[in-house]
Amino acid sequence: MSEYGYHYTHARHRAWRQKVLKRAGYLCEECKRYGRLDKNGNPVAAVTAHHIQHLEDRPDLAYDVNNGQALCLACHNKKHPEKGGDHNRR
Ligand SMILES: [Zn+2]
Ligand SMILES: [Zn+2]
Repeated sequence: MSEYGYHYTHARHRAWRQKVLKRAGYLCEECKRYGRLDKNGNPVAAVTAHHIQHLEDRPDLAYDVNNGQALCLACHNKKHPEKGGDHNRR
């Protein structure tokens, strides 16, 4: 039943993301490292969990919390220049 499989994978991914965010205290790890603050002077909240080792390379680490990094949207976009959205080339 592929339907069940999809939901199961989705639930696992959500649980993984929650663990990554929780470990980071729900703050963006990149912004925290560089001491960046949001426009209100608060630490930048993380909204997503990024796979440090890409899934295509290391599917075995897909649900490894140590392979997760909590990021805000701006930092996450920088991690994925291939997705567009950030036209700054480095
Ligand atoms: Zn950030
Ligand atoms: Zn990512």
